Amino acid sequence: MKYKLLTPGPLTTTDSVKEQMLFDHCTWDEDYKKITRDITDKLLDLAHVNKEKYVCTLMQGSGTFGVESVLSSSIGKDEKLLILANGAYGERMTDIAKHNKINYVMYTQDYNKRHDLNKIKDILENDKDITHVSIVHSETTSGILNDIEEVGKIIKNYNKIFIVDAMSSFGGIDIPVEKYDIDFIISSANKCIQGVPGFSFIIAKKEEILKCKNKARSLSLDLYAQWETMNKDGKWRFTSPTHTVLAFNKALDELIEEGGIEKRYERYFNNNRLLINKMEKLGFKTYVDLKYQSPIITSFIYPENVGYTFKEMYSYIKQRGYAIYPGKIENINSFRIGNIGEIYEEDIIKLCDIIDEFLKGVN
Ligand SMILES: *Cc1c(COP(=O)(O)O)cnc(C)c1O
Repeated sequence: MKYKLLTPGPLTTTDSVKEQMLFDHCTWDEDYKKITRDITDKLLDLAHVNKEKYVCTLMQGSGTFGVESVLSSSIGKDEKLLILANGAYGERMTDIAKHNKINYVMYTQDYNKRHDLNKIKDILENDKDITHVSIVHSETTSGILNDIEEVGKIIKNYNKIFIVDAMSSFGGIDIPVEKYDIDFIISSANKCIQGVPGFSFIIAKKEEILKCKNKARSLSLDLYAQWETMNKDGKWRFTSPTHTVLAFNKALDELIEEGGIEKRYERYFNNNRLLINKMEKLGFKTYVDLKYQSPIITSFIYPENVGYTFKEMYSYIKQRGYAIYPGKIENINSFRIGNIGEIYEEDIIKLCDIIDEFLKGVN
């Protein structure tokens, strides 16, 4: 039984993207290196950066590999990271810091709240050892969208290196990377560009990536070494995920055909708000306030004392063509629905009809 994914990566891709993977491409020659160069070039365009100042590096593995590559390659032994966390992905950065013995402090916030800008100022004012600050743009844990523009202004006022995990937003929400003065921004193949899993990508200031030389704590995740090899002519340092690369290149073209990030954002936004509207009518409230709610994924809270389990609802919906996502917020009974990928208004309508039907069956 086929179903569409309402999960925020992997997500539902087009048949034309999947078709690219029917070919076993060789990797050593110019054809393949050109595809890699085209991809990095297109990504830099999407990020609105000057290509003299910014570079793009692709890194094998899932999104976390990209985040770990940046943190473990850019923060030296005498440097210190401030992690702004309001969800599991922010907290994962502390896990990465611990494993790599990176000196860090964390400012945690409730999962449905943004960080207090004055508190960030206070921390930077009082802890002069901090050199780097990291934040997640779209916290996929809850669906909250953090304000990287305002946070970035403070970070830059204090002259710190600014690291953004834009995993679930890049390509779906426009991010003027140079204007926001971001030093490292990370995303992956299987999120809003709508490719399949297999690699992450890092857009970084050239000046900052050069400083990563000989700093990495790991061989395979050494960002400088990966960039240095790839930057020469498009060669990957170790075996590349060829099928994913071909699919991703096609996905990038399809993003441009759709009308670019602006149009994709519109589709995501409209579908997200339609979903929230319909779900509220069915009795489900959102966990995040609408003014902070991303157009990527939404956490819905169960009404009190429901006569069914998530598993039952999940199976009912999956048998009818859609896979939703369990919740990830402690002490709150919730589930999540993503709306990125090849998902259209008709899917949202169909999904909500299925949920309505399910609720009528249990009540
Ligand atoms: C998906 C995602 C990641 C990476 O997760 P992987 O499972 O390693 O791909 C990191 N941060 C955010 C915000 C994400 O949505």
